[in-house]
Amino acid sequence: MGETCPFGTDVQRYWDKRFEYFLRFNDGIKIDKEGLYSVTPEKIALEIAEHTKGDVIVVAFGGVGGNAIAFARTGKKVYCIELDEDRKSFIEHNAKVYGVDDLIHTIQGDFFAKASTVSAKTVFLDPPWGGPSYKESGSFKLNNFSPDGTKILDYAFLNFDEVVLMVPTIFDFSEIEKFDKQYDLQDNVINGEIISQTIYFS
Ligand code: ADP
Repeated sequence: MGETCPFGTDVQRYWDKRFEYFLRFNDGIKIDKEGLYSVTPEKIALEIAEHTKGDVIVVAFGGVGGNAIAFARTGKKVYCIELDEDRKSFIEHNAKVYGVDDLIHTIQGDFFAKASTVSAKTVFLDPPWGGPSYKESGSFKLNNFSPDGTKILDYAFLNFDEVVLMVPTIFDFSEIEKFDKQYDLQDNVINGEIISQTIYFS
């Protein structure tokens, strides 16, 4: 029997994967229920960090810090924006667990208010997908992101040269044709299963 999830039986299957999310989970990683099913697994976060060209990255929706930590571990300087005060403190704490707190500057507030205040050419976007229920809808549109994905991308293209967006596997790619941008696509694979995709706009 595995350890019982402290956040409820409904997210037990995510708890069982906690070492996939953070290899150093037992070194004191702080997480909450939403963070548990939203965080990017460490292996994937590192692959994204390696594929991203810029040296200074704005992470738009910080969460509990999985992506910010991976960017920092590849030597990049990170400005990590997070709306929620508790999550911001989790990011700072988790960055210390991985020994990369010197490369991560956290900013509490709204992405749309804060992102243009820092000097960076690259933005990484992993906007809220509305929890695990997105899987039931069959197809994922830009307006399923919250805030709306069109608003996020319009703002990102205005303020950054390199835009990296993580999307669910059921994302409707016809949705991004309107931006008229070239892009590379990366499958995010864990244990042989594609769990999400990353779009690198250029
Ligand atoms: P959820 O908790 O709904 O599953 P995520 O954990 O994927 O969503 O969301 C990522 C993070 O983005 C959350 O920690 C949330 O607080 C944060 N966030 C949401 N909206 C904004 C915003 N406008 N600016 C900055 N951070 C935001």
